[in-house]
Amino acid sequence: MTVHHHPPDEFLAAFAAGVLDLGQHIAVATHLVGCARCRAAVRAIEHVGGAVLAGLPPSAMSDGSLEALQRRLDEPVRVADAPARPRARGFTDVPGLPSLLDGYPGSSWKWIAPKVHLRPIRLAEPSATRVFLLKSGPGTKMIDHTHTGFEMTCVLSGSFVHAGGHFGPGDFDFGDGSVDHDVTIDSAEDCICLVAMQGDLKLNGLIGRLLQPLIRM
Ligand SMILES: [Zn+2]
Repeated sequence: MTVHHHPPDEFLAAFAAGVLDLGQHIAVATHLVGCARCRAAVRAIEHVGGAVLAGLPPSAMSDGSLEALQRRLDEPVRVADAPARPRARGFTDVPGLPSLLDGYPGSSWKWIAPKVHLRPIRLAEPSATRVFLLKSGPGTKMIDHTHTGFEMTCVLSGSFVHAGGHFGPGDFDFGDGSVDHDVTIDSAEDCICLVAMQGDLKLNGLIGRLLQPLIRM
């Protein structure tokens, strides 16, 4: 897989620092599954961060912390009664997703427009970013739209094209209110993407404005 479009460096740095919200984290993690270049970049950033931490002067422990630690060591270890739950894999039919989605509850494809289906991913904790899978059939022209927030798109299979370039498997696309998205699916097979999005879609043009009340993503 040749990856042509990568997340901006600040996203990779924020991913390495663990400061992205869960929805954004999942989008970058999905890109990393298919991109050795960005995996290496994240490792390098983590290495630098670790070196900075190692270079900090040691700070004194508070009074009594050693005694408290020794008391904890004397406490009996509690063993959970319940057997470990088998890992449910809700998205096994969609290759290219990061292992952190293992065990997430599955969902089914919902029709949202002709040849376009959406599969929500219910996050394990509250996040301002919604995450879903989007499947669009060959030749689909997504209605011309902009965003009130931002949209991160990771291509898992198939491909699409818009004014910003051609996006195939492994590619990462970032859009916000400044980008006018006139997207066409140009692969012979379905194009499946993982999308992380804040805000709403704003459909452009007369048809878009007529359809706006009917489409909720
Ligand atoms: Zn990359």
